[in-house]
Amino acid sequence: MSDPTPAAEHSATIRRIGDIIQSHQSFLLLSHVRPDGDAIGSQIALGCSLIAIGKTVHLVNEDGLPENLAFLAGSHLVTPPPVDPIGVDVVFALDNATESRLGEAALKCAADRRILVNIDHHVSNTRYGDVNLIDPTSPATGQILYELITALGMPLPPESRDAIYVAISTDTGSFQYPATTARTYEIAAGLIRRGLDVGAINSKTYDEHPYRRLELMRALLNTLELSADGLVAHWDLRERTRVELALRPEDSEGLIDTIRAIRGVQVALFFEELPGDEGKIRVSMRSKDRRIDVCRIALEFGGGGHALAAGIRMPGPLEAAKARVLDAVRRAVDSAFTD
Ligand code: 5GP
Ligand code: MN
Repeated sequence: MSDPTPAAEHSATIRRIGDIIQSHQSFLLLSHVRPDGDAIGSQIALGCSLIAIGKTVHLVNEDGLPENLAFLAGSHLVTPPPVDPIGVDVVFALDNATESRLGEAALKCAADRRILVNIDHHVSNTRYGDVNLIDPTSPATGQILYELITALGMPLPPESRDAIYVAISTDTGSFQYPATTARTYEIAAGLIRRGLDVGAINSKTYDEHPYRRLELMRALLNTLELSADGLVAHWDLRERTRVELALRPEDSEGLIDTIRAIRGVQVALFFEELPGDEGKIRVSMRSKDRRIDVCRIALEFGGGGHALAAGIRMPGPLEAAKARVLDAVRRAVDSAFTD
């Protein structure tokens, strides 16, 4: 027999997940460390839909709930990992490319699971689940979940509706990035028809920044540098600044878009000293040009993500990490423009 088409395989996987949901009672939903709108939105969306059909649901994130997403109804359900394993039948890993990015403590509390279902849109996903629903053409895991929930005829309570909108809106840069499709807008329209208040939810998502985020922006601007004839822009955040401004991990979310938006810039990078004594560096990368695949560069250093948005956690110190990554970026830029 020939291999099934990707579309047929995708539908079969959705049916399989439907059977798993039907035949089990307790579920633990996880997503990646340093969760963003798509991670938390996906947890709440699927979680509240499962609760609506009478399932027992636990929402756990290694780093707990970020303050900027606490406005989402249902967000109070997201907790940091308890010390002991939560005895559940099924674990869902959402918006998470590699198993280790779920976090050590979160993985420990998922240890008693019988089945692991991996639902994600990262091209670098390693398919670590027993069942894997991976769609790299989808701009957000929230979009895959909308398709899953509606295909299975599951309820979409207001908590899930709003969470899916925030998941998609934040992962598409407000419906702007190239991965945004007609289907993405159709889903948003569907959510509005189901009662979503667009003005209110966007205002809560984008107009409620803490003042310290602007102080962070000021500090970052002081480190901004252009290189490679203006094709590459980067800035960095030192531990000292984080402490001085009492920053939280979510405060830098999306700020990289400011330097990505500079005319002529094709690659933007954000280097950040992570708290803790290991001296690790987090790198955030964005590309504006399909010929420069930042996911490929990230994979060289053990990171991952998407072609136009990727990230790395790597050993420091900051200056050494910057030199290594910027070198790889400039090589990629060179080869993209000489081919
Ligand atoms: P961000 O720069 O917004 O943190 O991440 C951009 C994209 O790259 C996201 O899809 C995120 O999941 C992925 N990403 C960020 N950091 C890492 C990392 O350390 N490892 C992997 N595998 N993916 C990452
Ligand atoms: Mn995502």
